[in-house]
Amino acid sequence: MKTVSIIVPVYNEEDNILHFTEAVSEVMNKEPYEWDLLFIDDGSKDSSLDIIEKLQIEHDNIHVLALSRNYGHQIALTCGLDHATGDAVISMDGDMQHPPALLPELLRKWEEGFEIVQTIRKDTEGVSMLKKKTSELYYKIINRLSTIRVRPGGSDFRLLDRKAVDALGEYREHDRFLRGMVTLLGFREADVEFVAPPRFAGKSKFSVSKMMKLAVDGIVGYSVVPLRFTFVAGMLFALLSFCLLVHALFVYFCYETVSGWTTIIVFMSIFAGIQLIILGIIGEYLGRIYTEVKNRPLYQLKNTKIRKK
Ligand code: UDP
Ligand code: MG
Repeated sequence: MKTVSIIVPVYNEEDNILHFTEAVSEVMNKEPYEWDLLFIDDGSKDSSLDIIEKLQIEHDNIHVLALSRNYGHQIALTCGLDHATGDAVISMDGDMQHPPALLPELLRKWEEGFEIVQTIRKDTEGVSMLKKKTSELYYKIINRLSTIRVRPGGSDFRLLDRKAVDALGEYREHDRFLRGMVTLLGFREADVEFVAPPRFAGKSKFSVSKMMKLAVDGIVGYSVVPLRFTFVAGMLFALLSFCLLVHALFVYFCYETVSGWTTIIVFMSIFAGIQLIILGIIGEYLGRIYTEVKNRPLYQLKNTKIRKK
């Protein structure tokens, strides 16, 4: 019988875990597969880990890996992918925003032969217009700038065939944007659309800074266009400053006037601003090179009683 692993990163989800587990079990018990649920506790500070450990004792097919601290959603997912054993691995959030009712549809697509079944969030209930619009704009920018193609609304609710999981496992970069990395694999991909309901309980665990980091990783990780932009901008402003120099010399020799203080200040500010922007972009890449060169492990596990592949 084919096996399916469902990996679920959780960070302070104590009020969601039981409901989520029940909902998934109800759907999966009707499916003709052996299945298991692998929670990755991302350093929760509430009773999430205790609740899951209890579930693990009661059910043979529920497992938990506990990270030693909060590493973030993408690293928690990676840890799940590294340890999941199924012929297919499905990643989903533990707050019911990725509806378990959709699981059969993902599995049917897998049976049809697709190695990647990606869900596309058409809409999210109860989310502000601002978040929707910024997310739309973000996908436009990323698709324009980078080598990867990410569909607007692409989420981390997806099924990967064992072949795709193993291939993805070879990508060990530290600043991860799995949604983009999956598209680099080049396997056959099917899309399934859904409308995300509001969270069952609790608040979003994605702070603005976590979201910004993911957004920057998505662009800088797959595109050198910003670096190229610094070169073009640098050339443009070098040309401009050369024109200014000619102008200044012309004024100096022909009119013998003292040039205005304002002009100097204005241009100094413009150039200082541009240089700082360019340095910032270079810094983004440099920082990533530094992280990769150190080549630290992506995560540390707290519990050692884990199943190995
Ligand atoms: N999550 C995690 N580590 C984090 C933040 C979130 O493991 O640092 C988990 C969280 O518990 C949930 C999933 O990732 O299961 C998605 O997070 P959330 O629902 O807060 O994101 P949103 O749906 O608001 O984008
Ligand atoms: Mg959520």
